[in-house]
Amino acid sequence: MHIINDEQAVYVLSPKNQPVAEVKPGDVIKFITMDCFSNQIKTERDLFSSIGWATINPATGPVAIAGAEPGDTLAVKIDDIQVAEQGVMVTVPEMGALGKILSTTETKIVPIKDGKAIFNDKITIPIDPMIGVIGTAPEKEDIPCGTPGRHGGNMDTKLIKKGSTVYLPVFVPGAMLAMGDLHAVMGDGEVSICGVEIPGQVTVTVDLIKGKQEMWPILETPLAWYTIASAEDLDQAADSALNAMVDFLGKRADFKLNDLVSLLSIAGNLEISQVVDPLKTVRMGIAKEIVQNYNLKF
Ligand code: CA
Ligand code: CA
Repeated sequence: MHIINDEQAVYVLSPKNQPVAEVKPGDVIKFITMDCFSNQIKTERDLFSSIGWATINPATGPVAIAGAEPGDTLAVKIDDIQVAEQGVMVTVPEMGALGKILSTTETKIVPIKDGKAIFNDKITIPIDPMIGVIGTAPEKEDIPCGTPGRHGGNMDTKLIKKGSTVYLPVFVPGAMLAMGDLHAVMGDGEVSICGVEIPGQVTVTVDLIKGKQEMWPILETPLAWYTIASAEDLDQAADSALNAMVDFLGKRADFKLNDLVSLLSIAGNLEISQVVDPLKTVRMGIAKEIVQNYNLKF
């Protein structure tokens, strides 16, 4: 197993980033990740305003995958996610979907004990660890790790967790996989602008699908297939996620187009991943059980 340390991190996903390691398809990699604040917030006295934007959203990596070429897809199977014993949340006026009702900046420390996030003395929440930032290098531009896109990045999708596989488009030789921004638990929407932000370790198995690519990242969970798309507003993100699902299913099953649209209307689910990043993220899902007779593969 390859181990990639959290000192080997980038804040921008870029075709110019140099790989910190090279692995082969089929290899297992453990990424050690800092939290989204580069582990700088340790107590409730450490405020968000005291750390710089330059150190927000580190992603460990990037790791080159031998043989990956533009036009391929990188399959990243998430074998395990371990999180630390303490997570952190911030609330900041004017930030997030509810920032306009806030007047003070606060830090909240959330201990993790026996698989639960201790929110206060009356509420504990079972943890469900997920990856906020996971992506390949974009084709041309530098994209900050805090922004999602066709390359993945800050998709903040709570289903990107143990047991799922993320299929990411490859835009540059080596693909350049990086990840970080773990959440011990997060709700759809991520309305305050954070989950329970936490350092941790992600174990993945990478594989290459040669000469085949979808427009947006695809997520395969044990129960469903999803397309994940991001845009400046939710309407555009929904439009992209829907069209990506029409493409994905249309290429793999012999539906009439009108039937495919009807199927998505009665058995597909359009869901919000997050509404607080520079681009917003929507996913469109179809249960595997519904399409089981088509034997779908990426
Ligand atoms: Ca995030
Ligand atoms: Ca986060």
